[in-house]
Amino acid sequence: MLPKAGLVTMHSGNVSGYDPESGKVVIKPSGMDYDLVTPANLVEVDLATGEIAPGQAKASVDLPHHLYLYRHVPELRSVVHTHSNYATAFASVHKSIPCCLTAISDEFGGEIPCAPYIDNEGDHIGEGILKYRGRGPAILLGNHGVFAWGTSVSNALKAAIMVEDVAKTVHLGMQLGTLIPIDQTEVDKWWNRYHTSYGQDSSL
Ligand SMILES: [Zn+2]
Repeated sequence: MLPKAGLVTMHSGNVSGYDPESGKVVIKPSGMDYDLVTPANLVEVDLATGEIAPGQAKASVDLPHHLYLYRHVPELRSVVHTHSNYATAFASVHKSIPCCLTAISDEFGGEIPCAPYIDNEGDHIGEGILKYRGRGPAILLGNHGVFAWGTSVSNALKAAIMVEDVAKTVHLGMQLGTLIPIDQTEVDKWWNRYHTSYGQDSSL
């Protein structure tokens, strides 16, 4: 879905999922174009030990950040990382995406924050994501791109798609005039409705 949604090119970005029953994280192989990725060559990693069984492809270089997030946010089941164009344009100028659309209120409950530049050593990116994240399931990393997450693979994917979609609309809005943020009390109304009564009952 990532290339189909236009969020990645060639082999950029990555995605992982976590299965708490087996304790395994499954992540995209390093430097592999998406059209070559199959269920068979996804890399399986033990979350507790970080060990990868021999004979598998090399895991994405961003594996440590994915593992850090699963270890510190127990409800997480999926993490998506992209350099999608409009969202990463905001990251290139260290601008958060202000909450000036009801769609941002629904999905993110406030602005989508932009963290400062963070280097790629150790747990710096994982720590930075938790330090600078807002209420919603995504963050921009200054000079870098997007991390999005969710309680399922489809939720994380939706968050990554939504960040790019609203970044594009907000960018267009900036060409027309001054962005008008929504009052937090109004943001809360959209957020609460979206997280309580929106969509179909799961029994349907
Ligand atoms: Zn990246």
